[in-house]
Amino acid sequence: MSDLAPFVKIIHEGGIVAFPTETVYGLGADAWDPEAIQRIFETKGRPSDNPLIVHLSNVKEAEDFVEVIPEVAKLLMKHFWPGPLTFVLPKKREVLDSVTAGLSTVALRIPSHPKALEFIKQTGPLVGPSANRSGKPSPTKAEHVKEDFGDDFPIIDGGSTKVGLESTVIGFQDDHIIIMRPGKIGADELKSVTGLKIIEEYTNNDDTPKSPGQKYSHYKPQAHVVYKGISTFNDHTMYLMQSASHVYQDNVICYNGDLKQLSKELYDRFRQADHLGYKHIHIEPFDDLRSRYPAYYEALMNRIQKTLG
Ligand code: AMP
Ligand code: MG
Repeated sequence: MSDLAPFVKIIHEGGIVAFPTETVYGLGADAWDPEAIQRIFETKGRPSDNPLIVHLSNVKEAEDFVEVIPEVAKLLMKHFWPGPLTFVLPKKREVLDSVTAGLSTVALRIPSHPKALEFIKQTGPLVGPSANRSGKPSPTKAEHVKEDFGDDFPIIDGGSTKVGLESTVIGFQDDHIIIMRPGKIGADELKSVTGLKIIEEYTNNDDTPKSPGQKYSHYKPQAHVVYKGISTFNDHTMYLMQSASHVYQDNVICYNGDLKQLSKELYDRFRQADHLGYKHIHIEPFDDLRSRYPAYYEALMNRIQKTLG
């Protein structure tokens, strides 16, 4: 695909490029280039103790980053890659400390977006944190990346991302799978493929979280986010509702009881609310949809909880 050539060139010259994935837009840099990685942290304003996910285009490349890939990880890779599942595994010595934030593990995934796959095939492994300034919602459209980094920033435009929330992050411990960050691929699916016990560790609020990103409050819109029943409506609030009889009002958004749809548009709504100057984002509780969309429910609640208050 020749339209990717200028972007591939930027990566090869040590630069950074925003690229679409099925989850959110990523900020790509050569996973073996310390200066390019430094540029990623500076561009995002990301704390250096928050590790990066390495994005690959084929499973073979994982061997350059990981000592031994456990059989169960191989099974899951076969099942879910390319896709929104990130594996945290013991790293090889050569993997840069700036990628892993000095940890003994490295996070890996193969995204399924065709443009991402084609791009990484041409560049080689890329680190790919979300392409937003730290503290802003992850970008789900090329426009979001432009908002944060300017119109001239190199972006591969792949339209709106399908999933809209970041990948599920998992690790392995004593025959258990640990979910460090919930995403589209949930505990039920991981269990049915492996038969293993699944432990969810992302709700821990202790000081030494398994997944360093847990301690940072990402995704915070300027508008005050609330998650509770709606009794009255006002004009300075954006309402996110399962179903609504008020849909004729611009500030009332209805996702028709579809948590997949809400996941896809959540970050875009957060950004919109700030542009339009809403003071509040009022999310109508959707606990009744939990059993229908267990993984999306967990992922949404995890992101929403970080924005409350
Ligand atoms: P982002 O790229 O911003 O979506 O975030 C990547 C997240 O992946 C980090 O914030 C961590 O939570 C997680 N992660 C990356 N590398 C590791 C690792 N070695 N161990 C645990 N979690 C990791
Ligand atoms: Mg991020």
